[in-house]
Amino acid sequence: MEYMPAFRLHRPASVEEAVALAAGDPAVRFLAGGTDMVVNIRRGIERPTALVDLSAIPELGAIDIDSGALRIGAAVTLARLAADPRVAAVWTAVAEAAGSVAGPTHRAYGTVGGNLCLDTRCLYYNQSEWWRSSNDYCLKHRGSVCHVAPGGKQCFAVFSGDLTPGLLIHDATVDLVGPGGRRTIPLGDLYRDDGMDHLALAAGEMVAAVRVPAPPRGARSGYLKSRVRGSIDFPLAGVAALVVSSDGLATDIRVAVTGVNPRPHRIRGIDVHRGHALDDNALDAIREAVRTQAKPMKTTTVAPWYRRRVVGALARRLVARLASS
Ligand SMILES: Cc1cc2nc3c(=O)[nH]c(=O)nc-3n(C[C@H](O)[C@H](O)[C@H](O)COP(=O)(O)OP(=O)(O)OC[C@H]3O[C@@H](n4cnc5c(N)ncnc54)[C@H](O)[C@@H]3O)c2cc1C
Repeated sequence: MEYMPAFRLHRPASVEEAVALAAGDPAVRFLAGGTDMVVNIRRGIERPTALVDLSAIPELGAIDIDSGALRIGAAVTLARLAADPRVAAVWTAVAEAAGSVAGPTHRAYGTVGGNLCLDTRCLYYNQSEWWRSSNDYCLKHRGSVCHVAPGGKQCFAVFSGDLTPGLLIHDATVDLVGPGGRRTIPLGDLYRDDGMDHLALAAGEMVAAVRVPAPPRGARSGYLKSRVRGSIDFPLAGVAALVVSSDGLATDIRVAVTGVNPRPHRIRGIDVHRGHALDDNALDAIREAVRTQAKPMKTTTVAPWYRRRVVGALARRLVARLASS
């Protein structure tokens, strides 16, 4: 770890002030809980000229439910989200995912906005300065070669936030604020399939809130992840699922994954199981669809083939549990 470098620290009281402070300088960074940002600064990956601390902005700190829809401010901590009984009862996957991030101290500081905007991760990137410099750095940061796929010019650093899949299966949208004003986009559109540049935020734009509509009547959802250290680790693979059943037949089924691609995403092609029983054949087909659409690369110490098998197995197990509960 490096010593903390010098930078300015701003603590604005409004979203507009935060956006104005970040405007015009590409080396200014937003700071929420700091549980990822501070580590990256200490590793020399981030070298901000200034940090804009979002923790004193009242607009970002609320969890509201209005007409059955949920609005979560970007600065709400993961611990608060996980402990909210209203969220756990209706948007179970969201609460389970929030409660599975890192360890209790990270969740006490880590926020929803920081989790959604988490930098992508890779074995060759999340290392100390001396480790990376002795490997001539990498394509994502200061280097010219991707050590995961040396022949190409694509970065495969993986998105490893736990919260996004549970929100994707609930059709969440995000409220963004930037120099160009406010806009709302589907959460899925926040992400690009590019480990080097994975967020579709404009320069100086920030997430203000995430909005989650009421799920379909009778929906059950959940989140499962695999990790090296059960008490404190990023997902090697994470799966959220939502199932609605009627008379033993699935009327709605949604699955989303994290930790296996540069971009978290909904699994395509599983609508074919609507109107059918989620029997062993259907569960096997869902498992295979997840495995096919997951593209783990050698971005962690755990082999890609294992993560591909695990992500499918987690999806099968979770959908089976939701279908039978
Ligand atoms: C040991 C360890 C284990 C971890 N395990 C996990 C894990 O299991 N699962 C997991 O998901 N994460 C894990 N993390 C990462 C991190 O703790 C969480 O993702 C946390 O939610 C990040 O939130 P934060 O508020 O601390 O973000 P910060 O560190 O403050 O910021 C993270 C990034 O988001 C940006 N950002 C923050 N808020 C906004 C906003 N409102 N709008 C736009 N950009 C914003 C920052 O500029 C920065 O680039 C782990 C970290 C450590 C150190």
